[in-house]
Amino acid sequence: MRITTITNWAYGITVVLTVLSAAAFILSARSATQERQAIEQHLLLNSLGEELALGAEETTDEARLYVMRGEARHLDAFTVDEGEERRRDATVGTLRGLGVPDRELQVVEQVAVNAEALDKIEEAAVAFYRGGNQTGARDTLFGPEHERVQTALLDAVTQFRALATARTEAAMRNAQARSDLWADIAKVILALTAAVFLAVLYFVLRRRVAIPLMRMTGIVNRLAKQDFTFEVPPDRRRDEIGEMNDAIQIFRENGLERNRLDDERKQDQRTKDLILQMMHRLQACYAQNELAEVVALFVPQIFPGIAGCLYTMNESRTALAEVSRWLDPAHTQPSFPAAACWGLRRGRPHVSHVADNDIPCQHLDDSGVPGLCVPLTALGEAIGLLYFEDRSKDATAADAPRLYLELIAENIGLAIANLRLRDKLMSLAVRDALTGLFNRRSLDEALNNLHRDKSARTVVCIMIDIDHFKRFNDEFGHDAGDEVLRHVAQIVSDTVGAAGTAYRFGGEELTVIATDIADEEGFGLAEKLRTSVFTTPFSYRGRIVGPLSISVGIASSPVSGPTTTLINRADGALLQAKLSGRNRTVAAFAMGAEEELKRG
Ligand code: GH3
Ligand code: MG
Ligand code: MG
Repeated sequence: MRITTITNWAYGITVVLTVLSAAAFILSARSATQERQAIEQHLLLNSLGEELALGAEETTDEARLYVMRGEARHLDAFTVDEGEERRRDATVGTLRGLGVPDRELQVVEQVAVNAEALDKIEEAAVAFYRGGNQTGARDTLFGPEHERVQTALLDAVTQFRALATARTEAAMRNAQARSDLWADIAKVILALTAAVFLAVLYFVLRRRVAIPLMRMTGIVNRLAKQDFTFEVPPDRRRDEIGEMNDAIQIFRENGLERNRLDDERKQDQRTKDLILQMMHRLQACYAQNELAEVVALFVPQIFPGIAGCLYTMNESRTALAEVSRWLDPAHTQPSFPAAACWGLRRGRPHVSHVADNDIPCQHLDDSGVPGLCVPLTALGEAIGLLYFEDRSKDATAADAPRLYLELIAENIGLAIANLRLRDKLMSLAVRDALTGLFNRRSLDEALNNLHRDKSARTVVCIMIDIDHFKRFNDEFGHDAGDEVLRHVAQIVSDTVGAAGTAYRFGGEELTVIATDIADEEGFGLAEKLRTSVFTTPFSYRGRIVGPLSISVGIASSPVSGPTTTLINRADGALLQAKLSGRNRTVAAFAMGAEEELKRG
């Protein structure tokens, strides 16, 4: 019940009780008045009865004194007392007017009748006396008849007084009892009013207002300090305090929602910052392994608790191979054909094992763990794949914001494409298009670097020239010449391996630079190159052509000379090899030794 309703009811009840209490007091007062009236009537009737008795007695006394003494004053007094009859009638009339009961009136009338009879006896006695019959007068006044009538009169007066006293006393008692009863009722109602007032005061002010208000004050204080960690106890009362409690509950829920949105906004901002950071670092990557490292570092921070890996597409765009992973995804293969992924086939994100009504990717096992494949594209071409795998029910790949997924996929795709483009451009800039070997510019750069290197490393330079190359051109055409060039370059590249680097110097001349090897070792390598070319058969359009041979000149630094003259010295040795009949190796340092020997 609402507090206003309670207070209204309490007010109404208090007013009604007050009115009832006032009415009871009025009734009590009226009963007191009736009691007073009964007392007054009792006194009046008492005095009237007394009067009747005294009146008769006085008349009798005056008549007896006159008869005894013969004094005229007693006769006068007796005669005056004769008016007593009128007074009696008046008294009876008064009693009637007072509403005295018939029983009492009958007794009063009996008194009057007896008084009249007494008067008559006494008048006869007075008449006897005045007629000289003193004895007769005395006998009459003191005779038995007078005695009887007088006794009857006095008895009637006594009876009247007794009746009147009994009645008026009963009326007095009744009135007093009523007065007391109404007074008691009034007191009880007054006490009830006070009790209602106090109860309302206690119930409304203390239990319904003060205690809940104190509790709510504590809650509001905590809310004001942004502390939402508690529950607002439900208040089932449908009153103002209940409404206030509901309002506080709503206030707390709003606060919680605001905090949640704030956390979400912060989390979102953090995710955006991480994506931005990752994009900046991706753009600064020089190689794919760096890119893979950046992705493996940032993606699990952007999508916490979700495992995954990054695949890149091979050159022929037929298969994918894993290049990085985070949080150890366990349900996908490290490499698989491009056709095994529905995400790649459809060119859009594909979720596997979330609903039974969609087809799962074939590169996933049948564990049923949900996985999300996001294809990476650049310039309309599929270039790789981002794979995400659920770790727990709290972090599901399918719930990851698509906008961010697509943003990340687009950026990683573009970064991979940029790296590939960069590699291609780099390759174009440093490699020879025909043989795939490093070009002359690369050689010059390598030699400059060696020149700048002050660590005095040993460097061997091997100059190679294909013997009678012009003939192939002339005999079989330029294409055949190109094929010979590619064939020799391949042998040189394979034979040198990690021992050095092969360059196309120009035309049909190749150069090999090897560092940190001894002269003898270099010479051995040169000889190995020469014999490999000579012994490897070469066929052109199904015809064995050859044998092919190369002349090789070799020089070294720093013992035999500086790196700045390395090419020239090797070239000199090569010339010497040509002059010596081709298909041979001449070492510049050996030539120097021979000249020393000749001079010696
Ligand atoms: P030698 O044994 O003295 O080295 O004789 P050679 O014929 O190999 O040497 P020469 O300098 O007379 O001829 C080199 C030829 O190589 C001349 C040029 O037309 C040819 N040549 C240079 N670059 C290329 C190329 O890229 N492709 C083809 N097919 N021929 C080339
Ligand atoms: Mg040449
Ligand atoms: Mg040649």
